[in-house]
Amino acid sequence: MVTAKKLAELIEDDSVMDAEAIEEADRECPDCGGDVLEVGYMPSVTEFVTGRKCQDCDWSETDRD
Ligand SMILES: [Zn+2]
Repeated sequence: MVTAKKLAELIEDDSVMDAEAIEEADRECPDCGGDVLEVGYMPSVTEFVTGRKCQDCDWSETDRD
């Protein structure tokens, strides 16, 4: 099982400062229909991002504009 911080780093493709607990997102992956995990994390002190990552493929997104 991946940790919240590790999941956030996979989504961000970089290191993150902190991450909240992993939750199951109420949606399916648009690419493969797999289960999507959601995690809130701080890539830097001033930024908070909610990221989502598919458990079955490489698809991910963030709520960053
Ligand atoms: Zn997928």
